[in-house]
Amino acid sequence: MRGVVRWFVVWLAVLSLGDVLGAQPSARSATVELRDAHWFDGTRFVRGSRFVRDDHFIDPPRGGADSVIALAGAYLVPPFGDAHTHSPDGARDYEAIRQTYFDVGVFYVQTLANHRAARRDLLPWLGRATELDVVFADAVVTATGGHPQILYELLATRFRPFWENDAERFEAFRSRTQDGQVYYRLDRLADVDSVVRLIARDAGPVLKIMLLQSDRHAERAGDSTYAGSYGLPPDVVAPLVRAAHQLGKRVWAHVETPVDFAVALDAGVDAFAHVPGYGAADAPDSLLASLLLPDSLVRRAGAQRVEMTATAALGVAEAGEDTARVRRHAAVVQRNVRALANAGVQFLVGSDNYNNAHILRLEPRALARMLGQSPVALLRTWAVHTPQAIFPGRRIGVLASGYEASALVLACDPLRELECLQRIQRRMKQGVWLPE
Ligand SMILES: [Zn+2]
Repeated sequence: MRGVVRWFVVWLAVLSLGDVLGAQPSARSATVELRDAHWFDGTRFVRGSRFVRDDHFIDPPRGGADSVIALAGAYLVPPFGDAHTHSPDGARDYEAIRQTYFDVGVFYVQTLANHRAARRDLLPWLGRATELDVVFADAVVTATGGHPQILYELLATRFRPFWENDAERFEAFRSRTQDGQVYYRLDRLADVDSVVRLIARDAGPVLKIMLLQSDRHAERAGDSTYAGSYGLPPDVVAPLVRAAHQLGKRVWAHVETPVDFAVALDAGVDAFAHVPGYGAADAPDSLLASLLLPDSLVRRAGAQRVEMTATAALGVAEAGEDTARVRRHAAVVQRNVRALANAGVQFLVGSDNYNNAHILRLEPRALARMLGQSPVALLRTWAVHTPQAIFPGRRIGVLASGYEASALVLACDPLRELECLQRIQRRMKQGVWLPE
């Protein structure tokens, strides 16, 4: 009898040891050869094979791979990034939004303003190989009644982003339903510490701050006739940025004018969500010169190695067919963009988009046109710099041993024909082929 008990105990022990071993990857997981493709190496395409084990590329294994996928000369590029979006924002529509990004080839997005609770609703999805990889800025910091308080209050109470009369504008100005969710209000220096305590509740790597017409803040803030058209008082920006950096957060600034840009640079902001002069299409001709960045500011931005999304497609779309508006936009924004790029500012793809595949596709082209960029530089911006800027700690954007095995399989050479960037045949993310 005792012998039987002892055998049973040993059998149980073997079972649980088996469980432990089963939970680990087996001694050596299968190696896959992706055979005979053109691989983008950051400057050109190189023909050959790559090997994948688990979620990353590896050196060619001695003795070859366990299986082979013939790619028959297809063109492989790293997946794209979008460093300025506003989706996903919650579980509602998430699957459709994910599909829109994947269709375009975008695996990495950074939402520069989203609901904090909605981000938590997405936790069951995020962090898996087959899902979008998202950085959330959560709630942005602005002044009471500023941008984007009015926008998000109108969305929450009227289900549209604009007011129809003064009464609705005033109601949005007084409304606080989204306070502490999509925005924090900061109106004076003495309140910086209390707002920083609120920001510190979320561990995300990015904070977004709002600067609009900073030189006119004193006359506009708190006046409901300027609802939504101002942001932070300039004197809070430096201590706020310092505190965010102490929390380990990169700071992105929404700016509109050269004065906003100067305030943000003085404060040590890391990146910009728009080009100064954004909105030039609607500015009177007499104001255009004041929207051009002075050389001294351009040089400082280059020296501080800041990054910037130009939201170029949005500018083009907003300027519309009206040639005078297009001319004003181009005269200011394109000149500022080229001056900043020449000084060393790194431009990233950022569509400022909710879920519009057309804008997602248009943005890299519009940015490249604005910069006068070659196709290879465009590809580097979209597939290398932008993903690496969103996830600076990850081994992405490179199709080589030691990097995550993520790639888009293109039917043709995008350096010969840019349309090939959207002739995507298959998508691999962290070693997993995504469903077609
Ligand atoms: Zn935005």
